[in-house]
Amino acid sequence: MEAIVEFFKHIESYHRAGILAGGIALFWLIENVKPAANFAYKKWSHAAINFVFTGTTILVNFVLAFLLLEAANLTRKYDFGLLHVLPEIPLWLYTFVGIFLLDFFGAYLAHFTQHKLAPLWRFHIIHHTDVYLDTTSANRHHPGESVIRFLFTVFGVLLLGTPMWMVFLYQSLSVVFSQFNHANISLPRKLENVLNKLFVTPDFHKVHHHMYLPHTDSNYGNIFSTWDYVFGTYMHLAPGQIDFGLDTHPNKNDHSTLRNLLIIPFQKKRQAK
Ligand SMILES: [Zn+2]
Repeated sequence: MEAIVEFFKHIESYHRAGILAGGIALFWLIENVKPAANFAYKKWSHAAINFVFTGTTILVNFVLAFLLLEAANLTRKYDFGLLHVLPEIPLWLYTFVGIFLLDFFGAYLAHFTQHKLAPLWRFHIIHHTDVYLDTTSANRHHPGESVIRFLFTVFGVLLLGTPMWMVFLYQSLSVVFSQFNHANISLPRKLENVLNKLFVTPDFHKVHHHMYLPHTDSNYGNIFSTWDYVFGTYMHLAPGQIDFGLDTHPNKNDHSTLRNLLIIPFQKKRQAK
């Protein structure tokens, strides 16, 4: 455990890039061997758009990183945040609690809020317009959404008093989990039934990408499924019943051109047809 802490204390940018690229490569490979859905799509041209958004997400995180550092330093300096008032517990438990709680602020709450506040939803639409959900969809976030998510993570770090090494560990786990739960794969049924009790699996998350309400407004979690069970936002839908995309943006031009995806937040509000 100490070795993990040391690694994330001194993690280099190229290590972080390696984790991101390695995750995509791994799940892409598994998708090729055993896809859950047989999409009739050009995988590389579909990926190209999502890679552009992955790039802008990295850029936003890089430019704003100083805010996270400031937040973590501030809480350390003033001994502030929930993690500072924990009793003496083993390092692994401290890490688990920290990641678990940061997943609430950085993922569940950020995501839930984007679905409930109209101005934020406009940015999140881009993520939901993907009709071919695969591992590259994980970071298909409008730059505006990347900023929103980032600020929620900063808020979480301030409230929790998360040390910087734990923030880096969380971000790495978060990226890989997102690639995993968006991947076009299904786990063996028995493993799925055990794993989704605590973690967000592909079958668990894909319900969220069903194009119709109320399922679009369910299963917001990224790493831990617990938050959806606790707050009553969990829904089940069998993988074969899921139609990916968004009923307000069903046309090809809505979801397959970069220019249109970038301006969606500024277009007139649409109703589902
Ligand atoms: Zn969503």
